[in-house]
Order: sequence, then structure tokens, then C-alpha cells
Amino acid sequence: MDSTQTKRPRLTKKRRALLILNCLKELYPEAPCSLDYETPLQLLIATMLSAQCTDARVNMVTPALFDRFPTVTDYAEADVVEIESYVKSTGFYRNKAKNIRAACEKIILDFGGEVPQSMDALTRLPGVARKTANVVLAHAFGINAGVTVDTHVKRITNHLGLTKHDAPVKIEQDLMKLLPQPDWENWSIRLVYHGRAVCDARNPACGRCQLLEWCPSGPKLIKAKSKSKSAKSSSA
Ligand code: SF4
Repeated sequence: MDSTQTKRPRLTKKRRALLILNCLKELYPEAPCSLDYETPLQLLIATMLSAQCTDARVNMVTPALFDRFPTVTDYAEADVVEIESYVKSTGFYRNKAKNIRAACEKIILDFGGEVPQSMDALTRLPGVARKTANVVLAHAFGINAGVTVDTHVKRITNHLGLTKHDAPVKIEQDLMKLLPQPDWENWSIRLVYHGRAVCDARNPACGRCQLLEWCPSGPKLIKAKSKSKSAKSSSA
């Protein structure tokens, strides 16, 4: 009997989520933020730049950017065109540069020059969505205010049957009900690792996935793959 035919015990969604979480912790013991930063301000800027861009690309541009603009005042007083020149390769650079400067102006005006430490205050900064605020709060301040839902988290959480939603905000609400609060942010990081290592968007490697036991999509995807394989070999 292979893993797709094994009779599965009936588990509540919450129990399954916890088993998956424990397995992810074993698979990926470390869950650091993959953006390079030293201060909350640097993390805020790097996270704003990471929208529609890889963390690796952001990490390539931030050393020079952080060097040129060491303080919140440096950004607030900068010529936006100069910020653009540093962040061009991250995409949507005009918008990003404009938002970075405007966010820093607001940090100075409304928050005494310090990156605020609440979801409400952070999401009042120009260009700072809930997803960005979640990352900043968790990694800069150790506050788990929500679950960051990016494309990997959205896809894999759906595969795992822990949500039926497409909208990140709804997926986040589902996950917040299922997972312990201290694990909200590390869930996202570990699912990103798992998405890169095993649960690829185009070709998930369900056959060697350690989460298969708790994943309702795995057996279906394995079956579909073997069906298309045999269809190909019989038409060859
Ligand atoms: S079993 Fe397949 S679909 Fe489920 S998490 Fe693993 S790779 Fe993704």
C-alpha cells in the first residue's frame, strides 16, 4: 500500500494544523527573516522594497541604500529621484521610492522619528500594507500581530486544506484561528521554505513531501501526475 492509499485518521483542522506546524519546525528549525537589516527602519524599508520582488534582489540593493541614507531624516529630506536610482532593480521603483520618502516623513511627524510598534500605526504609513507591518512587527519587535500571506503561503495553505479562501486577508483570519499566536510569523517563513524546497507552484513533489500525511491535495496530485505520465507513455 503506498502513501496515497493509506487510510488517514480523522483529525480536526486545528489538530492537523498543529501537526503540520511541528513537522515544519523539524524540517526547517531556523526561521529567520530572509531580508538583511540591522534596525527596524532598515527592515521596514527592505520589506517595502520586497513587494513584487525577491528577497535576494532586495538584499542586493539595500547595502548601498542603507549606506547612503542612514537615518529616517535622510530619507524624508531626500530627492525622490535619488532614492529611485538605488531601488530601480526591485521593480515599481517610482512608487516604492515615493512611499519610502512619504513613510519616513510621517514617521518623523507623527511618531517622533521612531518606527511605530503597532499594526494600526504602521498601516497608516504610505505604502505599508498589513503584510509589510506583520513582518516588521514580528522581526523587529517580536510582536506576532498576524500571519503574513504571500503567494507560497496562499498556495500551500490551500493545498493543506486549512483554508478555502483566495483573499490573503481571509486566509490570514483562518490561520490565526488555527495556529498558536507565537507561531503566526514563523508559519509563513517555514511555508516559504517548503514552497521553495518541495511544494513548487508548478510541480509539487508530493511523493517526497513530509506533509503528505496531513495534506488532502497530495494524494490527488500524485494520482493526476501518474495518470498524465501513463497517458504520455501510451501515446509515445
Ligand atoms: S503533499 Fe504535495 S501539495 Fe501537499 S504540501 Fe506537500 S508538496 Fe504540497
